[in-house]
Amino acid sequence: SEEKSLNFIEEIIEKDLKEGKYKSIVTRFPPEPNGYLHIGHATSICLNFGLTQKYPGYTNLRFDDTNPTTEETEYVDSIKEDVKWLGVEWKNEVYASDYFEQLYEYAVTLIKKGYAYVDDLTSEQIAATKGSHTEPGKNSPHRDRSIEENLQLFADMRAGKYKDGDKVLRAKIDMAHPNLLMRDPLMYRIKHAHHHRTGDAWCIYPMYDFAHGQSDSIENVTHSICTLEFVPHRELYDWFIDKLEIFPSHQYEFARRNLTYTVMSKRKLKQLVEEKHVDGWDDPRMPTISGMRRRGYTPEAFRDFCDRVGIAKRENLIDVGLLEFCVREHLNKIALRRMVVFDPLKVVITNYPEGNGPELLQGEDNPEDPNSPTRELPFTRELFIERDDFLENPPKKYFRLFPGGMVRLKFAYIIKCEDVVKDADGNITELHCTYIPESRSGSDTSGINVKGTLHWVSATNNITAEVRLYDRLFKVEDPSSEEGDFKDYINEASLEVLSTVYAEPALKNARINERYQFLRKGYFTLDNKDTYGRLVFNRTVGLKDAWAK
Ligand code: ATP
Ligand code: MG
Ligand code: MG
Repeated sequence: SEEKSLNFIEEIIEKDLKEGKYKSIVTRFPPEPNGYLHIGHATSICLNFGLTQKYPGYTNLRFDDTNPTTEETEYVDSIKEDVKWLGVEWKNEVYASDYFEQLYEYAVTLIKKGYAYVDDLTSEQIAATKGSHTEPGKNSPHRDRSIEENLQLFADMRAGKYKDGDKVLRAKIDMAHPNLLMRDPLMYRIKHAHHHRTGDAWCIYPMYDFAHGQSDSIENVTHSICTLEFVPHRELYDWFIDKLEIFPSHQYEFARRNLTYTVMSKRKLKQLVEEKHVDGWDDPRMPTISGMRRRGYTPEAFRDFCDRVGIAKRENLIDVGLLEFCVREHLNKIALRRMVVFDPLKVVITNYPEGNGPELLQGEDNPEDPNSPTRELPFTRELFIERDDFLENPPKKYFRLFPGGMVRLKFAYIIKCEDVVKDADGNITELHCTYIPESRSGSDTSGINVKGTLHWVSATNNITAEVRLYDRLFKVEDPSSEEGDFKDYINEASLEVLSTVYAEPALKNARINERYQFLRKGYFTLDNKDTYGRLVFNRTVGLKDAWAK
């Protein structure tokens, strides 16, 4: 087999291991619990956990919960469920909020070393004195407070003596630094807010830049992988670790994963949910993990997708068709084949004996599996085929049914169309056909060769179901880069519901985690929300070749 080349992070890790810098590695997946995970997060999960599957070490699941006003336990629970669904196992479930006391101590250490100070400027004033790429910033009048005064003021901030916004803690670096993020960045702000885990214990909260790297260091994370927008933060990440003299975690950046025909930011996905463009975070059209799961995607398919796409150093837009290809590849191997007629046209087999019970034919569940079990298919005198599998005036090379034409009914017999029955308005109401008794699948001695094979169900022994057919949520490849609001590009026809389709009886026992190929229709799975007292199937993805047998 072909040797896959290493990605740039694997190259770094192999070098670190070879040089003995580390014996084993530690990575983490650090979601902020302020929304549901999407496909972008899933690539980060595959990357971080994939590295510690390949190399000695482990991966932590760390909730980056330093912002009390946007975070909720509901999101923590959904994130855990989604990570588990992807089939990876974290070593430790940890929370940045577990480190609040330690982070406070780190801040005190920096104050004592003269590397941090309490500032009374408002956030507007701080922004106004930051300077620009061409202009240095201005020192705050409070920059030279004594260490003792800073220690007292910081303790008072923690004790709740001040209102939100009255004071902040800033790192004392350089207001003329070429990297604007190094111009005395904020470390702590006052926020009298309830936190989903620490409750009302704190009224000061660390900023991302003062929490992330320190949390990595506390956990001995060796390779802290994040997305490209954090490149300018790396200098600050290293500065805090250096000044605190703690375990030197290192930050590495890769390009965010974007997919065509969707958006991939929690903020935008939240808008779609709140403005009811979709039926919740787990709507099967959403690029969330819960949406993919509900739609019938498999974790195996998703991991295969991540492997094929790899990681990049530059932003790119991946064709959603590649994800669909991976899903089809996997479902083709595992899906149970079933026959379902969406838009029925009745066929009466005029030479089929009347009055007998149904003839039970055998159909293999999966032709890809040499040991495939079979299920029983009732064949009866009256059947349904798909209305658009019949044409009264067919073009040349039409292999489906037409007057005088013959087709095979899958797993059953060859039939010939003898008569077309119409109502007073000229609409076709049924077809009268004959069947060839010697042509039964598996024991065909008829010697007749037909080109077309149709799916069918018994008109008298079937069950009904609802199917939901999904299309892309957006009409353009990259809605976020178009002019105006991304929501102007929503595909209004992204959901088609067929409330009654006719299915073979075996589907009565359909289960949530099973996958089905409805012959010639696509891959389907039971909806995990609305299947109560009725069967609701979601189309995961269509078949590549619409006329595959
Ligand atoms: P969003 O911008 O969608 O809100 P985020 O980056 O704010 O996402 P976090 O919860 O902070 O979301 O992300 C957790 C981890 O997932 C981070 O390490 C982040 O870099 C990674 N991640 C998020 N979105 C993507 C993406 N599109 N591609 C790759 N990794 C991503
Ligand atoms: Mg974030
Ligand atoms: Mg974000």
